[in-house]
Amino acid sequence: MSAVGSVIRTEIAALAAYHVQDATGYIKLDAMENPFALPETLRDGLAKQLAKAAINRYPDPAGAALTTALRDAMGVPKELDILLGNGSDEIIQMLAMACAKPGAKVLSVEPAFVMFNMIATFCGLQYIGVPLKADDFSLDAEAMLAAVAEHQPALTFIAYPNNPTGNLFDRDDIRKIIRASPGLVVIDEAYFAFSSQSFLDEISQFPNAVLMRTVSKLGLAGVRLGVLIGQRAWLAEVDKVRLPYNINSFTQAAATFLLENVSEFIAQTKVLVAERTAMAANLARLFARFPGALCFPSEANFVLIRVPNAAAVFAALKVRKILVKNTSQSHTLMQDTLRITIGSPAENAAFLTALTSILESQYA
Ligand code: PMP
Repeated sequence: MSAVGSVIRTEIAALAAYHVQDATGYIKLDAMENPFALPETLRDGLAKQLAKAAINRYPDPAGAALTTALRDAMGVPKELDILLGNGSDEIIQMLAMACAKPGAKVLSVEPAFVMFNMIATFCGLQYIGVPLKADDFSLDAEAMLAAVAEHQPALTFIAYPNNPTGNLFDRDDIRKIIRASPGLVVIDEAYFAFSSQSFLDEISQFPNAVLMRTVSKLGLAGVRLGVLIGQRAWLAEVDKVRLPYNINSFTQAAATFLLENVSEFIAQTKVLVAERTAMAANLARLFARFPGALCFPSEANFVLIRVPNAAAVFAALKVRKILVKNTSQSHTLMQDTLRITIGSPAENAAFLTALTSILESQYA
């Protein structure tokens, strides 16, 4: 056996690397990014803040100014603490590291954000995924509660809204899962900016629940900043596995300034929510002509669609220089699905035109 084969953990060797498609030259509707560039009005101010950053020094380890800006921008209740991560991906990793006792388990639904499963594996935890209901991707509360009872998970991740399905789960079902859980339940609100519902005002009522958010979908994916919001007892422990300078000086300077001007980004997300509504209506009208095609309801900045022969539709979109996510292989419940990020009005129009002609030629 080679040194690589004998040294690398078997469960890591068995993994496929997280694949990011090269999107050069494409209309990029695959990664839930905000399609709008940084507003012109903020560019000079941002440049000034970055030029002032004390990059000869290590970053502020606590990110004090940034924490204040985040609290204000997100309206975090004052009784709750905040912990910052290099994207919420890093927060998932910190949570998993802190909870990785021998035999400890991570629970989520399936399909869910793939990093819940991958990071559990990275950190040596066993991952349990409970399938959503097949018809509408709603939470199977009975099956989740049975899994909580059977597996006694240290960590449970529930994305609200869920990725890749886009829907919100029943709030009472989530409350029941939190109450029944012996471990920590993480409500992942990565898509909060597009959702009509949140657990932010409720989280302090539970001794074993925390809330995670990111600025990525708000228009700052390149900044890499996620936040965990919760009671000090939990966050103080997770903070011990945080590397001291995980939020670099440029991220701190940029995010502080940009969150002080969050209204600019909120305005962009409002456009995207209106675009999502229009997209859902346009798809419903289009799909009425094509039996078997449907669009699932979404509270996020993407929609999940089911189309006959999704792999061929995906490939045909790619030929037309439009990149979406083919989620068909991600889970048995996801057969023939594509996940479409809501783009700018022009990008959405281009997508609809392309999809219409692809479906018309397929069904001809
Ligand atoms: N949670 C969910 C549900 C997501 O969909 C994503 C990104 N796609 C993340 C967390 C990670 O976001 P980031 O690391 O950019 O903060």
